[in-house]
Amino acid sequence: MELRRQHLIDPVVCIRCNTCQEACPVDAITHDSNNYVVSYEKCTGCRTCVSPCPTGAIDNWLLTDAPWTLDEQFGWEELPESHPALGATIIETPAEVTTLLDAATTATGGRVPAPASAAQPYTNIYSREAPVTARVAGNMRITAEGAESDIHHVVLDFGANAFPFLEGQSIGLIPPGTDDKGRPYNIRLYSVASPREGERSGYNNLALTVKRVSGGIGSNYVCDLKKDDEVQVAGPFGDAFLMPDDPEANIVMICTGTGAAPFRAFTERRRRNAADASGKLMLFFGSRTPSELPYFGPLMKLPKSLIDVNLAFSRLPDKPKQYVQDKLRERAADLVPLLPHGKTHIYICGLKGMEQGCDEAFADICRLNGMDWASLRATLRAEGRYHVETY
Ligand SMILES: Cc1cc2nc3c(=O)[nH]c(=O)nc-3n(C[C@H](O)[C@H](O)[C@H](O)COP(=O)(O)OP(=O)(O)OC[C@H]3O[C@@H](n4cnc5c(N)ncnc54)[C@H](O)[C@@H]3O)c2cc1C
Ligand code: SF4
Ligand code: SF4
Repeated sequence: MELRRQHLIDPVVCIRCNTCQEACPVDAITHDSNNYVVSYEKCTGCRTCVSPCPTGAIDNWLLTDAPWTLDEQFGWEELPESHPALGATIIETPAEVTTLLDAATTATGGRVPAPASAAQPYTNIYSREAPVTARVAGNMRITAEGAESDIHHVVLDFGANAFPFLEGQSIGLIPPGTDDKGRPYNIRLYSVASPREGERSGYNNLALTVKRVSGGIGSNYVCDLKKDDEVQVAGPFGDAFLMPDDPEANIVMICTGTGAAPFRAFTERRRRNAADASGKLMLFFGSRTPSELPYFGPLMKLPKSLIDVNLAFSRLPDKPKQYVQDKLRERAADLVPLLPHGKTHIYICGLKGMEQGCDEAFADICRLNGMDWASLRATLRAEGRYHVETY
């Protein structure tokens, strides 16, 4: 028997975020209102889409005797079984797939690994079909009343249920109800905003930072939750955007809006466990105004010896617009020694599109200081020291 390997997306785990479709260099990924799917004929197996996928739904390579068509994949509610390989000849087509899959496992093959010193994460313990129940321990608006952005700090308690997570991971919340086709809603991902030992140390709880999106199903559900409400949770998700545990690691964190969530977790982890670490924490945080910046008050109270905070506001009356990339350029003198340092890690989190401005700022800083950003960034990526999570 001859079998072929086919790259497929797991419809149960996929959150329909479009990241893979944007990442694929050969337009092999497409979607309809039901599913994200991969064209067997177009996919080269380059794995460019694998690392950016926040849930891991993309990383399925099943064996089949007749590749599934796009129409078949559009109709799936779950992945089919992979053909058992016993005694079969496996034909890797397109031809590049074998080479590229091998390359991907021997080198990183486009996949950005986790920082070397990060702890081993648990992922996908709970799913939409088999979620865990958590209880809302608190829900508080953290942007000023009247500010345009309505951002909430939500604490979930898992009681006696195990929910191990690391700083940088996300969880999936399952909005109750069904979509217009009568199917359960897809899960919505939210970054964990507290360190692994709990929002309150020693408690089995975690915090989220959620922005209300006009007309959004998940964000409105979460922002309206009341104390003691029960929520269904999937995850944890993500195995790469993790905090280095090495206290000598310099961590450059760049964010906008709710992109601050994982960095609150990183900072709290350092503050509680290694406040005198020699590694630097530098935060570049962009917002329209201070009143729209989540955690503005607590952030300003953090000691300067713990974290170097740089805020960029784009809508202050009578002030020029400032974005995170402007602050990066302003702080070039302090970034120059950090960038080539083997223990420096860069994280970007927040609005889609913010990577480009940061990239240009780093390229300028490097060019003016005798470094080549393209090769430096490639090294950082290969060593799990450059991570981007935008949505
Ligand atoms: C890895 C990751 C981490 C994330 N972390 C966070 C986080 O920490 N905090 C956070 O706030 N968010 C985070 N997000 C984003 C979050 O998952 C949701 O995407 C966000 O809350 C919006 O979801 P929603 O259900 O409210 O909106 P949706 O219901 O998904 O709608 C999104 C938008 O589409 C519009 N829309 C929906 N249906 C239609 C339609 N039929 N026709 C026209 N327009 C429509 C809505 O009005 C809305 O503007 C993260 C995402 C990822 C991928
Ligand atoms: S493996 Fe490469 S070609 Fe295939 S879907 Fe992913 S990005 Fe596209
Ligand atoms: S969850 Fe992964 S597979 Fe699904 S759309 Fe997002 S990137 Fe693609």
